[in-house]
Amino acid sequence: MKYCIKCGQTLEDHGQQCPACLHEVKRIHGHLAFAPKLAEDGEGFEAEYFLKLSNLEPASFWFRSRNRLLIWALQKYFPGAASFMEIGCGTGFVLSGISEAIPELALSGSEVFSAGLALAAERLPGVELFQMDARHIPFRDEFDVIGAFDVLEHVKEDEEVLSQIYQATRKGGGILVTVPHHRFLWSQVDEHARHMRRYSSRELKDKVRRAGFDVVKLTSFVSTLLPLLVVSRFRQRLSAKESDPGSEFRIGSFLNATFERMMDAERFLVRSGISFPVGGSLLLVARRK
Ligand SMILES: [Zn+2]
Repeated sequence: MKYCIKCGQTLEDHGQQCPACLHEVKRIHGHLAFAPKLAEDGEGFEAEYFLKLSNLEPASFWFRSRNRLLIWALQKYFPGAASFMEIGCGTGFVLSGISEAIPELALSGSEVFSAGLALAAERLPGVELFQMDARHIPFRDEFDVIGAFDVLEHVKEDEEVLSQIYQATRKGGGILVTVPHHRFLWSQVDEHARHMRRYSSRELKDKVRRAGFDVVKLTSFVSTLLPLLVVSRFRQRLSAKESDPGSEFRIGSFLNATFERMMDAERFLVRSGISFPVGGSLLLVARRK
């Protein structure tokens, strides 16, 4: 169900004027924009950032492996899902992977920065894309599954986002969430990426439960690479300002391929039922009651 972001009136379609308060959702570059004031905040920076990201993702072991893990989780925990919405879809790399693996799933993507949507639109013909603030989601009981991948750590009001997501999912549906794991790994990488926090597994689980969900799977990933991550972050702390936060992604192709194989092995273990207690990131799957 769709509703008016201004007055809460139920709507057939977000593209129409609200019959109750006459509010009309703006469009930016053709996409419905529910929070246009936020859309172009720091647009120059975001446009450049998303462009860099979209060149990096297809070859990077990290983005490729995360996609495979997410597709596995989606198929395993929500095999009957007909609709999926991603919050913070960025350049559309995750949605394009899902669309290839599960073509029958109806996909939607939202992003607060309109610069990401322009790139996502190129990758995702036929996917509904809109600009939205995750703290104000104009849907109720609408999507079988909602995904937020490395999004919650950017938002001060992460619990508000989770309860909005709860409202927007259908009963029996649920969520897939990834966040950075372990507070002790906090470094300039997090600051550069404008993270508010890294999560302990307890914190993530508690917040998701308070929003109303039942947690069905929680595992760390990038676990086999944790020792390397610790060294890399520790060296950055020592070398202070000069370090380059993007350097962890710019590794040689041999290392990239090796790390990808390690992530394959890790995923094999997760699929067989193992949950890793430590790692660079957390994956959580939860169901709406
Ligand atoms: Zn209205």
